Amino acid sequence: MKKFRTLLYYKYAKLEEAEVYAKRHLKYCKQLNLVGRIIVADEGINGTVSGTIQQTKTYMKHLEDDPHFEGIEFKEDLVDELSFNKMHVRYRPEVVTLGAKEVFPDNKAPHLSANEVLALKDQDDFVLLDVRNNIEHEVGKFKDAVTMDIDHFRDFTDNLKQIEHLKDKKVIAYCTGGIRCEKATTVMLQNGFEQVYQIDGGIIKYGKETGGKDFDGKCYVFDKRIMVDVNSVNPTVISLCRICDKETSHMVNCSNPECNEHFCICEECGWEMQGACSAECKEHPRARTYDGSGYYSR
Ligand SMILES: [Zn+2]
Ligand SMILES: [Zn+2]
Repeated sequence: MKKFRTLLYYKYAKLEEAEVYAKRHLKYCKQLNLVGRIIVADEGINGTVSGTIQQTKTYMKHLEDDPHFEGIEFKEDLVDELSFNKMHVRYRPEVVTLGAKEVFPDNKAPHLSANEVLALKDQDDFVLLDVRNNIEHEVGKFKDAVTMDIDHFRDFTDNLKQIEHLKDKKVIAYCTGGIRCEKATTVMLQNGFEQVYQIDGGIIKYGKETGGKDFDGKCYVFDKRIMVDVNSVNPTVISLCRICDKETSHMVNCSNPECNEHFCICEECGWEMQGACSAECKEHPRARTYDGSGYYSR
């Protein structure tokens, strides 16, 4: 029996005193003994938290009862161990950063349910667009999806030219849990894309509701797990070990804190390299102790 639960959620909402709220929220989460990482912003909340079933239940109720977050949805995963070591709540101006120009999602791009996506995605005039960054789509993405060469989501707007050719198509945008798509689709509609949709709840909800058919590889997540399984119908591995080129979906942070690069490395090479991406990083005096997971708490 898995004893813990990890929640992923977001809600766009105008918060007047977000900085004050963030401080109060941190205190609340610590009292509950949760661990996780939460961003509180003037435009809403975005978090991943982990705790016992009871703690996470109390937490969900706390947010659901707050009128600011009416209608908030949680993606829930039962896990063997907590997905974080500590509890962080940080204030930022935006929940997800999309560069200089402020964009509050206007929700004009229709949300498609997971089952609608399953039915539509292979039709000729539809195309799936991955709005996540390079390290994410390198380890997992929908079969035949269009990906973008961006290192950060904040580069999305400046790189719209990469997807110019999709302007006359029906584009279904997706990201991990849906939060980035709300902004990405808003920007696309402002820039001449006419038929833009988004997967409600992102890859995570799609996996839970459909079994994840045709999602290749794994889904990168922003906690200790690094990646989660999505596809139980026709799973594949699409990434290769940096060292030996064998197929692997094991991803680590380089053990050298000054490098800290995310990369794929098979279990065997991981131990051999002590979690480092290169011989130089392996010998680095501040290299962290590798425990096989390749996750280091911040
Ligand atoms: Zn290897
Ligand atoms: Zn390195």
